[in-house]
Amino acid sequence: MGVGPIPAGRRIVPGVSAQTAREPTKRSSRYDVLFESVQIGPVRARNRFFQVPHCNGMGYRDVSAHAEMRAVKAEGGWAVICTEQAEIHYSSDITPFIEARIWDDKDIPALALVADRVHEHGALAGIELAYNGMNGPNLYSRVAPMGPAHLPVATFTTDPVQARRMDLDDIADLRRWHRAAVRRSIEAGYDLVYVYAGHALGGIHHFLSRRYNDRTDAYGGSAENRMRLLREIIEDTLEEASGHAAVACRITVDELLGDEGITRGDIEEVIGSLGELPDLWDFVLGAWEDDSVTARFGDEAEQERYVRGLKALTAKPVVGVGRFTSADTMVRMVKSGVLDLVGAARPSIADPFLPRKIEEGRFDDIRECIGCNICVAGDFTMSPIRCTQNPTMGEEWRRGWHPERIRPRATEAKVLVVGGGPAGLEAAQALGHRGYEVILAEASHSLGGRAASEARLPGLASYVRVADYREAQIDRLRTVERAQGTVTADEILDYDFEHVAIATGARWRADGVGRFHTHPMPLDPALPVLTPDDLMAGRMPEGERVVIFDDDHYYMGGVLAELLARAGRRVALVTPAHAVSNWTTATMEQHRIQRRLLELDVDIIPARAVAATAADGVLTRCVFTDRERNLPADAAVFVTARLPADALYRELLERRAEWGDAGLRSVEAVGDCWCPGTIAAAVWEGRRYAEELEEPNDRGDTVPFRREVTGIDRSK
Ligand code: ADP
Ligand code: SF4
Repeated sequence: MGVGPIPAGRRIVPGVSAQTAREPTKRSSRYDVLFESVQIGPVRARNRFFQVPHCNGMGYRDVSAHAEMRAVKAEGGWAVICTEQAEIHYSSDITPFIEARIWDDKDIPALALVADRVHEHGALAGIELAYNGMNGPNLYSRVAPMGPAHLPVATFTTDPVQARRMDLDDIADLRRWHRAAVRRSIEAGYDLVYVYAGHALGGIHHFLSRRYNDRTDAYGGSAENRMRLLREIIEDTLEEASGHAAVACRITVDELLGDEGITRGDIEEVIGSLGELPDLWDFVLGAWEDDSVTARFGDEAEQERYVRGLKALTAKPVVGVGRFTSADTMVRMVKSGVLDLVGAARPSIADPFLPRKIEEGRFDDIRECIGCNICVAGDFTMSPIRCTQNPTMGEEWRRGWHPERIRPRATEAKVLVVGGGPAGLEAAQALGHRGYEVILAEASHSLGGRAASEARLPGLASYVRVADYREAQIDRLRTVERAQGTVTADEILDYDFEHVAIATGARWRADGVGRFHTHPMPLDPALPVLTPDDLMAGRMPEGERVVIFDDDHYYMGGVLAELLARAGRRVALVTPAHAVSNWTTATMEQHRIQRRLLELDVDIIPARAVAATAADGVLTRCVFTDRERNLPADAAVFVTARLPADALYRELLERRAEWGDAGLRSVEAVGDCWCPGTIAAAVWEGRRYAEELEEPNDRGDTVPFRREVTGIDRSK
């Protein structure tokens, strides 16, 4: 396999990461502009790096975890750190989503903790006040939602709830509630208070948009009338803040609905009229799914063409996002007059230390966001935020993980990591940073595993960054050595490793077992059945007609349909779900995937499963009626479930009796080899392995992370 003895005399620096060990280099003067301070009303941002409000699935529930996550970003050099949307009132309840709340004084301590932790690292704290209006079904508070019109609530789910049309008394109430939230925000210590009129997520947006506003009173009709509520609330906020905090307005610059919704013309009128009112404009595009588009459907700086030109209409500073990970693009945004402040949500999640790394010229150390929206899925699944690139995201308080620091090794033990996919790469680099002497052995000639293979599929090129970032880290670490070759159990037992991590991945099944079939389906060997592994290895189905059976429901089925359609095959995609790549609603791209496949003439067959194969096609079954139908095909591709490639791990467990002689103390399966999942899960597992190596392990008897439980209110 080529794993030789570890060269003698190598200097190991225990527990000092490559980053901290290296002298910071001075940044090129080209980037100086990014480190200029910017006045925002009464407060001053120390540089142009601005973490715009973003959800995180922790909000009011996981208060300390939320505060620590923001604190780490402040430590990483961002000048402004904002909360996610904070519901200003119980009638703006967006349950089941977990956001921040500022309903009454009881919420102040939790929000103050966030602001305090951000201040400790010299950043400004911002809060995004939101009145969700017809975006909140009020499932918790149960009161009737309110909006500009009598319309069903516009949420990500189709709750059977309507919003009622606000009258003038309701508008006066809303203005009073918003003022109270501003007062509480100042009391909690915020330096910047948002008026939220963007992303179709708040009442002010709904009033602005023709799509939702059919009013004939002073709040409907002309742009001036539709922006009246916005003007009043900005004025109220300024008055209430009275110079103690800056006032930002976050607004959708184009709803991408033509004359049906907010147009560029509307926004030019808004800025023309209110341009000098707030202290800062935060420009967003369309609804949230338009602004946070995945890399599969949008590039860095995708918003530029919509935002360009608006800054000229106001003297106030402007911030905007664009999944900026390149410092050169950031400089261009500022120098070409598109933005004053470089906004980021996802790049700050993938790398909370992005500003510091640019400042110190450490470009190879930047964990670039891959645009997968797994972070967004945290919010959509009401679970603490996670990130494919940054496994410490959401674990800063719970587990004490830090994106840039990891504690020194416990002993001088040597570790072998087998498999250079996302799990093995993360384990090796994190262990190397701890100071462990590590050999990373990979069977193939290149690192990356599934991240590298999937990156060759349509739209997934950015996935290669998962491998590239880690490979670059490993190559600079004196503690990690790479070896190429297939590792066997005999070899492992021949060498003197104290710990072995088996990260050999997983393989897609070819027997149809998954969610729908929990046992293999009848297969006619005359019909070729391929798996995603076959296609990623370059094997294409012969014949013209291909049936994909997608019982996985994440991106793979849809991506392979695109691959095959672009290769000229006639593709039918059969799925037991109601739509293609169903789970990608959580990454906000399902509608785009479905549209792309329909445009490529893929025949999408929902609510059916492939029940069996025959020489000339497949038998499909309706998931409701069990009625069966033949579907002619020349080949089938099964995207159902995966099995761990854990033969090596199992063999080592079976040979436990030989461990003592070999000096072997632990063998663990890590990542997909332990349990197949997302790339994010594999990276997280690699990190967990590295964090926990040589720690006491009680096999789950105690909860291995901190959590906060609800306080009990004993008042009568
Ligand atoms: P994960 O997502 O858990 O990191 P991957 O499937 O992406 O898993 O990566 C597994 C990697 O392990 C692949 O690059 C594969 O070539 C490698 N591998 C599998 N078996 C061995 C082995 N016995 N020795 C060395 N490398 C192996
Ligand atoms: Fe970027 Fe994906 Fe991380 Fe979100 S989860 S920040 S999209 S890498």
